[in-house]
Amino acid sequence: MRYPQDQPPVLSLTPGPVPVYPEVLHALSRRVPYDYDLPYQAKYERIVRKLQQVMRLSTRPLILQGEPVLGLEAAAASLIDAQDTVLILASGPYGEGFGGWARRYSRDVLTLEAPDDQAIDPQAVADMLKRNPAISVVSVCHHETPCGTINPINAIGAVVAEHGALLIVDAVSSFGGMNTHPEDCQAAIYVTGPAKCLGTPPALTLLGISTRAWAKMKANPSAPRGSVLSILDWEDAGEAGKRFPFTTSIADINALDAALDLYLGEGPEAVWARHDLTARTFRAGIETLGLSIWAASEAYASPTTTVVRLPEGISEADLLSDLRDRYGLLVSGGRGPTAGRAIRVAHMGPAAHPLHALAALSALAGSLNRLGFQCSAGKAIEAALQVVDLTT
Ligand SMILES: *Cc1c(COP(=O)(O)O)cnc(C)c1O
Repeated sequence: MRYPQDQPPVLSLTPGPVPVYPEVLHALSRRVPYDYDLPYQAKYERIVRKLQQVMRLSTRPLILQGEPVLGLEAAAASLIDAQDTVLILASGPYGEGFGGWARRYSRDVLTLEAPDDQAIDPQAVADMLKRNPAISVVSVCHHETPCGTINPINAIGAVVAEHGALLIVDAVSSFGGMNTHPEDCQAAIYVTGPAKCLGTPPALTLLGISTRAWAKMKANPSAPRGSVLSILDWEDAGEAGKRFPFTTSIADINALDAALDLYLGEGPEAVWARHDLTARTFRAGIETLGLSIWAASEAYASPTTTVVRLPEGISEADLLSDLRDRYGLLVSGGRGPTAGRAIRVAHMGPAAHPLHALAALSALAGSLNRLGFQCSAGKAIEAALQVVDLTT
């Protein structure tokens, strides 16, 4: 049997775009009102307050109208000025990539690297800050999606706060899928989006901004204003009587609203547990197949994406096409350091259910055997089922 290439896959377990919750898709088809009409302004404000509750913020969150790369670039442009010394924490492509934006706004950019299969050590950050007292801004990526590794941002945040610097966090692929919030890691600017673990289409950035970060941005003469990159323009957008800087993405805001309702309705703890259980189920099967995950330790393996190292002699392209053609399963290849060396199976939003992990393990075992890597689908499924049965 073959699934035609031009047909959508039966099951998509990619780390963004993710399969979207049906309720969210339905919300995209709601009426699109005029954004300066008073009822819409009130509704926008209610959604911002709901988001504040979901992000567990004491300050008002901000919604920017572009997928979260916009938020990351806007954070660099708004917060960093020529006087800053910036420390980039890099354990993968996203952490490292932030350095490109930081260098546009400051000439003093230092980097602290960790190997791409490991997590950043908060003690190494503390040592770096001690050696370089001028460091005023630090950036970190929480979940390096290309590597499936989680950095300990709460501990890093404590070290950065102790030093008195401001922390920019990329939590795009972790927020909503695990227990992480801007104030838990004392972020100055926490960048995330609803299109990964909250299960919307890619369109928006969600920002948590501390009071100190607002003060620094307002004092920064080069922080963008009158620009799509501006954070300052959106400070009080939608509050009673305040104008939006430009037309809001009304349909996508409706989708966000539905996604927040689903998240609160299921209960954040239950949502995180569902992501965690799916990842553990999948990892148990992977290990039994005789494969290993990219992360050097399970201690920092991501609950929202599992990156599986390819065994000797198995090509990424062959495996991906066999999975898709034979079973209709779409997963991602590696990226950056994992390109050509791993496949990525996401457990995000609607895909975060153990049944999807079981289906992916079956297909993976079938394709691997066909490509010449001997493994037992039955044993892998049994090991994976045991994780589910012990938990439920
Ligand atoms: C998905 C993702 C983003 C958003 O950027 P893309 O355009 O999808 O690459 C940012 N950071 C991380 C860690 C992500 O996983």
